[in-house]
Amino acid sequence: MRKTRTQIMMLNLIKIAQDNGEPELEKSYWNTYYCQQNLVSVNGRFYGKYCKNRFCSLCCSIRKADMINRYKPVMEKWKEPYFLTLTVKSCSARNLSKYIAKFIQGITRIIAKHRKRYQRGNGIKLVGVRSLECNFNPKYKTYNPHFHIITKDRKTAEILLREWLKLWTPKFAKRPAQNIQPVRDLENGLIEIIKYGSKIFTEADLKEKARVKKTVYIYLKALDTILTAMKGKRIFDRFGFDSPQQTTHKQIKPQLLLNYDEWEYNPELTDWQHVLTGETLSGYILPPSLKAILENNINTTLV
Ligand SMILES: [Zn+2]
Repeated sequence: MRKTRTQIMMLNLIKIAQDNGEPELEKSYWNTYYCQQNLVSVNGRFYGKYCKNRFCSLCCSIRKADMINRYKPVMEKWKEPYFLTLTVKSCSARNLSKYIAKFIQGITRIIAKHRKRYQRGNGIKLVGVRSLECNFNPKYKTYNPHFHIITKDRKTAEILLREWLKLWTPKFAKRPAQNIQPVRDLENGLIEIIKYGSKIFTEADLKEKARVKKTVYIYLKALDTILTAMKGKRIFDRFGFDSPQQTTHKQIKPQLLLNYDEWEYNPELTDWQHVLTGETLSGYILPPSLKAILENNINTTLV
């Protein structure tokens, strides 16, 4: 299912990248198209080649689980975690890259400034995690980049908020547009922070809209704009503490495999198929309504 949706989406993005003359992006889209195209199964476990692109929903779900496992134990020790959303006035497609560069540069400088103060014995160490997201407003065709931040305590959140408003000035950043509140549910907060990329096309959205049978428009052109602006940027980062240990991935030990099966993804069957027997892997059939939505209602003309 995820695989099918990703492939349909990628074919459209590939076309946009071709139209825009972005060969590098086009290549990344193809990598995602072929993400886990071939699987090898050994004793009921599956292994595939991952594209690791941030717009790949297959890779994102794996990455999300991995990051929650790594960060949750650290953050559970924080006594007073706070949730902070920092944003500015929405901007046009043309200005998005500039805005995103300033977002990252700005937060980095604020954190560095307070780190120096702390080292001089003057002030507190800012501790937290942050992720950059961008929403698209189809009505006004504007983009709204924003940071989701979880801080160790209230004080850190207040300092960041104050510095953010000062950095952008009231012309771009108004206090009511920002959000600061205690974290009530750490796991949910963390999931919110980690699902980076863009909110234009989320599974939840799709499920919701498919259920109410409303027309779903997928603003791929806008998504392409966001991905282009975020390319090479660090979307998720931590500050004030060391990187938690990477959870060890179980890999196939280098050994001669005699007893394995090979599967290849077949888009027509929306399933992986055994290369020798033709047997399908999940037996999953894409619901016709969802298939129609994905094939017909993709809006690539906007912006
Ligand atoms: Zn992938």
